[in-house]
Amino acid sequence: MKTRILFALMVSAALAIAAAPPAPVGKINGVPVFLESLIPPASWKVRCEAAIPTDKKSLDLYRKTLAIEFGKYPNPLIQKSNLKGIVIVKNLSVGGQRRAAMPDYENEILYLDFQFGAHSPAYQAHVIHHEFFHLLEQELNGSAYFKDPEWAKLNPKNFKYGKGGKHQRGNNNFAFKHPQAGFINRYSTSGLEEDKAEIYAALFIPAERKKINAMAAQDIHLAAKIKMMLGILRKIDPLLPRQLNPKSP
Ligand SMILES: [Zn+2]
Repeated sequence: MKTRILFALMVSAALAIAAAPPAPVGKINGVPVFLESLIPPASWKVRCEAAIPTDKKSLDLYRKTLAIEFGKYPNPLIQKSNLKGIVIVKNLSVGGQRRAAMPDYENEILYLDFQFGAHSPAYQAHVIHHEFFHLLEQELNGSAYFKDPEWAKLNPKNFKYGKGGKHQRGNNNFAFKHPQAGFINRYSTSGLEEDKAEIYAALFIPAERKKINAMAAQDIHLAAKIKMMLGILRKIDPLLPRQLNPKSP
């Protein structure tokens, strides 16, 4: 009898260890950071790997970028997003498609791949803001894919978005080429939620902000979108728009 109880205790202890979530390695702007996967929604078919010791250099570099970009966020913005953790991994894929990042908006966790796009820290910085916006949108409007009717009104007449971001991931889609009135790049034309996330991200990166402001100077549709995005941010933190856009009223 005693052996049976002991065995039962051992099994339950082992299960408890297996089920214990990984410990965070630190915090960025108050948000816990993990270096191994938590439990994303099973139906998303997420795959990723934890960094190994030989990844240290690129992982450290990425964490530096993350600290700088996340450091731009005031507390009210982070609180509004309801972000519970950041997971930094490699070889991240969702349903078999490689991803630079994945917002797990069911668990409020942001997954980031430190190797994807490592040749361009500027690209990685952009991705961090873009994906954070999807989490924020879910809190603001109930869905990361919210088809904001007010935003849609700012598009040129007869414009129709594509089939969503996952159908338009080629490298040539992200360059800021102002492909048509109202849009900073082709990726923005793939879906309304991507359009908003792209403008949001660009506002947080000075070199990109300069580019989109120059485009907006000759594009009333884009100028209206930037104004609306700054208005969204103003509601979260009244000081934020002026920090991002000194010319903002
Ligand atoms: Zn996106």
